[in-house]
Amino acid sequence: MACLFCQIAKKEIPATIVWENDEFLAFSDIHPKAPVHVLLIPRKHVESLATVTSVDEPMLGKLMLHVGDVAAVVGLKERGFRTALNTGKEGGQEVPHLHVHIMGGARPNKNG
Ligand code: 5GP
Ligand code: ZN
Repeated sequence: MACLFCQIAKKEIPATIVWENDEFLAFSDIHPKAPVHVLLIPRKHVESLATVTSVDEPMLGKLMLHVGDVAAVVGLKERGFRTALNTGKEGGQEVPHLHVHIMGGARPNKNG
């Protein structure tokens, strides 16, 4: 299974990593839709919010908690930021590995 974000998590494909721990990784989006645009992913392959189960509950809690940690290291925690979780084809999800978009800076983009 060649999942792009699994490959980034394993450092098989380069990315600008801004924060990581043993379970999660955050890196700059290659096509930023805001002055600061990073993606926070679990290292474990989980496709989307449509496929998670109760087994994923602790991971999902930690994912939400770490949004603030990532926002802090990219300078958005105090200023504020937008988050997005796209799910499935009609939800605009292009990469089928769960990820939280964290976007901020001077140019808000409600469609990003
Ligand atoms: P989605 O549309 O699935 O919610 O978001 C996927 C995001 O991944 C997009 O914003 C896109 O720009 C980003 N992306 C796609 N391929 C790569 C890549 O190879 N490297 C990085 N850093 N971001 C990527
Ligand atoms: Zn994956």
